[in-house]
Amino acid sequence: MKIGFIGLGNMGAPMAANLAKAGHEVTGFDMADVAVEGVTMAGSAGEAAKGAEVVITMLPNGQILRAVAAEIIPAMDKGATFVDCSTVDVDSARAVAAEAEAAGLLAVDAPVSGGVGGATGGTLTFMAGGSDAGFAKAKPLFDIMGQKAVHCGGAGAGQSAKICNNMILGATMIATCEAFALADKLGLDRQKMFDVVSTSSGYSWTMNAYCPAPGVGPQSPADNGYKPGFAAELMLKDLRLSQQAAESVDADTPMGALAQALYAQFVEQEDGKGMDFSAMLPRFEKRHRD
Ligand code: NAD
Repeated sequence: MKIGFIGLGNMGAPMAANLAKAGHEVTGFDMADVAVEGVTMAGSAGEAAKGAEVVITMLPNGQILRAVAAEIIPAMDKGATFVDCSTVDVDSARAVAAEAEAAGLLAVDAPVSGGVGGATGGTLTFMAGGSDAGFAKAKPLFDIMGQKAVHCGGAGAGQSAKICNNMILGATMIATCEAFALADKLGLDRQKMFDVVSTSSGYSWTMNAYCPAPGVGPQSPADNGYKPGFAAELMLKDLRLSQQAAESVDADTPMGALAQALYAQFVEQEDGKGMDFSAMLPRFEKRHRD
């Protein structure tokens, strides 16, 4: 398949490389000067999109997605499919899908879970919104880049699923980190804490698969000086998207709101920027009750 791929950063580059490795003809574009194995680089987003059956975007936010969409939608052939894999606000996802459909394209919002490791290993989870025809067209590509793709509903449903998932993730990471910091002060060995919680009712992905305590549980960013991984500022971005969405539909999300406030404090007023989101543990370790 002829594929255009725009946004070849930490996630986009390995995703595009996996499509090329599987035998697809991938033309890429990124604002930054990047090279990706097996991918032919174009001089603009429009050029990368021209003549492609499927165009995939993997960009930082909704504003940039809207700007790139305005350039590539007119360049794409009628009947082609526009798949956005970025994490963006639900409104931007729906607006871009409406523009694409008005231009005779199929549109899918398909944010991912699994991080850079999942992108590199081809084990991402895709949560998709859009028509059945759009999902069917994108599915074989999701199967190369990931291990699971769920069609969640119409336009914006993928983004809705993503921000609900990450609202749980942010709140759970904070809960896991504050419990470790409490256990420390109670004199409980961290390995014992892990052995109990990871097999008891406090278990979670943040404890069992991404343990924030160095040297405990499986390898995670904690074992690498809290180098991301999934950066605290990206967690903050997703928590803000969840609160923006909650406001727009009048949903009561107090835990999500508190998680957003704590990550905002960590990233904007403390030393969290550039750290993995699990670095909430050393943050709590340093603190006392106010
Ligand atoms: P990144 O910053 O590494 O990559 C974004 C890329 O987009 C950069 O290479 C940048 O140069 C490029 N770009 C920006 N504006 C552009 C434009 N106008 N035209 C062309 N290229 C442009 O970010 P990332 O970590 O790859 O994340 C991409 C998206 O995936 C984000 O929406 C993020 O929230 C989401 N996401 C990231 C992770 C993760 O663990 N990193 C996990 C799940 C989802």
